[in-house]
Amino acid sequence: MKSHHQFNYDHFIVKQNKKVDLSDFDTADTNGIKNKKAAQEALQSDIEALSEVQVLLWASAQKGVLILFQAMDAAGKDSTIKHVMSGVNPQGCAVTSFKAPSEEEKQHHFLWRPARFLPGKGHIAIFNRSYYEEVLVVKVHPKFLNGQWLPADFSEKHLDDFWKQRYKEINNWEQSLADHGITVIKFFLNVSKEEQKERFLDRLNQPEKNFKFSTADVEERVYWDDYQKAYEQMLSATSTKSAPWYVIPANNKWFTRSVVADIITSRIEALNLKIPTLSKAQLAELEKAKERLLSE
Ligand code: ATP
Ligand code: MG
Repeated sequence: MKSHHQFNYDHFIVKQNKKVDLSDFDTADTNGIKNKKAAQEALQSDIEALSEVQVLLWASAQKGVLILFQAMDAAGKDSTIKHVMSGVNPQGCAVTSFKAPSEEEKQHHFLWRPARFLPGKGHIAIFNRSYYEEVLVVKVHPKFLNGQWLPADFSEKHLDDFWKQRYKEINNWEQSLADHGITVIKFFLNVSKEEQKERFLDRLNQPEKNFKFSTADVEERVYWDDYQKAYEQMLSATSTKSAPWYVIPANNKWFTRSVVADIITSRIEALNLKIPTLSKAQLAELEKAKERLLSE
């Protein structure tokens, strides 16, 4: 197995039942890695190691891996996915982007939409945004609940319980995924408000980046503090032993990519997967097949 850079990323993991205060997390942290060049080398070795562990995942066909990304706009979800997964065989990997839900999706339970995109045996599924939007954007804009399929008649005073109920449903669901052999890896790419502004301005100032800009993003930025609060509550309530959240500093893209690649590789390596070995009877079958071919 290829060796790869190993970060000490313990401090990025949100411990179960820990109340999260995002001001404790440094968005510009590059601890453990000296500079961009060192990060790029680490990323390269991780990309190669990830490619190898994916072969094991595929060949052993016992487990699935779900990797999901949540972040504020311009935190680098898309480019992280692009770089980190660049060595992965597309045959065993699928990316799903979660945009605003369709009418049909709204008429179902909120976990109906992601269920169809879960990884099968031997597969990696990547969610670019996810069902967590249901306790983030929807929490910041509760009016989005109108038109959703909801069991009880709820009013303002019941909303707190409503969100608690959603966290619980998510935790139960992720536990059942873990019980069925799906490794769930959840990343929050933590960018600062100032850095987001810089990146929006880049998109406006550089013609080749204009297409990435959306005026809606600037409107959503107004709710920055509400989002931070929703993220804190979500991280506090849904980081569990079997499906922990990783809060990744996102002000330096080179750092983000290296750490994310390293965590994914390490989590799949930890599954200790093996290329299947054949039984005596199966080996005898192979021997027979070989004889047939050679006697043609
Ligand atoms: P990019 O801008 O890089 O293309 P994106 O993920 O920001 O990627 P957009 O189409 O800009 O894609 O935004 C998708 C929007 O859909 C986000 O504002 C997100 O909050 C919203 N969204 C996702 N899931 C839900 C949901 N369940 N309910 C309401 N809005 C949602
Ligand atoms: Mg967007």
